[in-house]
Amino acid sequence: MAAATTCTAKASTADSVKQLQYLAGALKAPRITEAAERLADQARDAGWSFEDYLAAVLEREVSARNASGARLRIRAAGFASPKTLEDFDFDAQPAIRNQIAALASGAFLTEARNIVLLGPPGTGKTHLATALGIVAARHGHRVLFATATDWVTRLSDAHRAGRLANELARLRRYGLIIVDEVGYLPFEQDAANLFFQLVSSRYEHASLILTSNLPFSGWGGVFGDQAVAAAMIDRIVHHADVLTLKGASYRLRGRGIDSLPSIRTTTPEAES
Ligand code: ADP
Ligand code: MG
Repeated sequence: MAAATTCTAKASTADSVKQLQYLAGALKAPRITEAAERLADQARDAGWSFEDYLAAVLEREVSARNASGARLRIRAAGFASPKTLEDFDFDAQPAIRNQIAALASGAFLTEARNIVLLGPPGTGKTHLATALGIVAARHGHRVLFATATDWVTRLSDAHRAGRLANELARLRRYGLIIVDEVGYLPFEQDAANLFFQLVSSRYEHASLILTSNLPFSGWGGVFGDQAVAAAMIDRIVHHADVLTLKGASYRLRGRGIDSLPSIRTTTPEAES
C-alpha cells in the first residue's frame, strides 16, 4: 500500500492522467477525467488550493449528474406540455410574481407544503403547476403530473385490485404530485373518498400542487359531499400557499374576446 502510494506520487503527469481515467471509470464518473485535466491548468495558473481544485472537479461531475437526473425526472413526470417559469409572462399576473419567486427556491418541497392555484380558464394555472414541477425535478424530487380525473382513475384501479395502500405508499415516495383541473368534472362519492385518502396520505409528508377553476366554496359540489370537501381542504391548506390568478384567458389575448362563459364564479380570494 505504502509502496503503491509512493509509486503514484512519483508517477509522471501522463501516468497520473491515465490513473485518473481508470479511477473515474471505476467510480462511474466519466466527467472527472476531463474536468481534472482542464481544471488543473486553471488551478496552477490561479494558484488554487488543493481543496478548491478538488471541489471544482467534483462540482462538474455533480452538476452534470443533476442535469441528466432532472431531465429523466421531467420526462417521467408526465407533464401535458413542458412549460417553465422563464416562459411565464408575469406582467399578465403581477400580483403573484413575488409568491412564485419565493416558491421557485423549492423550499416548499422539503417542508412538504402544498400549493393551490385558483383562477378562471386560461390564466396560467397549468403552466405554473408544470413550471413548479420542473423546479422540483431540478431540485432532485420525483414528480408526477395528472388531471384530477386521471388520479381518480388510477386510485380506483388500485382500490379495485386491492392495492390502494401500496399505491399510496408508492406515491409518498414522490416529492411532488400535481393534480390539475380539480372541478372540471364532479366526482362520484367513491372517487371523492379515494381522493381524500390521497390528500391524507401526503399530509405533512410530501407536497401537492392542485389547480382549480373553482373557489374552495365550489369544491363541495365537485366532491359531492360538503363534509369530505371541508376535511380535505382543511388538510390541503393547513400548510399551503394559495395563489389566485386573475383576468382574461391568456389564450384569448388580442382576439377581441374579453371573457368566456361559465367563469363567472364567486371570486376565489374570499377563501384564501
Ligand atoms: P389554465 O390552466 O389556467 O386554464 P394554462 O396554464 O393552460 O391555463 O394557460 C393557457 C395557455 O396560455 C398555455 O399555453 C400557457 O402556457 C399560456 N399562458 C397562460 N398564462 C401565461 C402567462 N402569464 N405567460 C405566458 N404564457 C401563459
Ligand atoms: Mg389548465
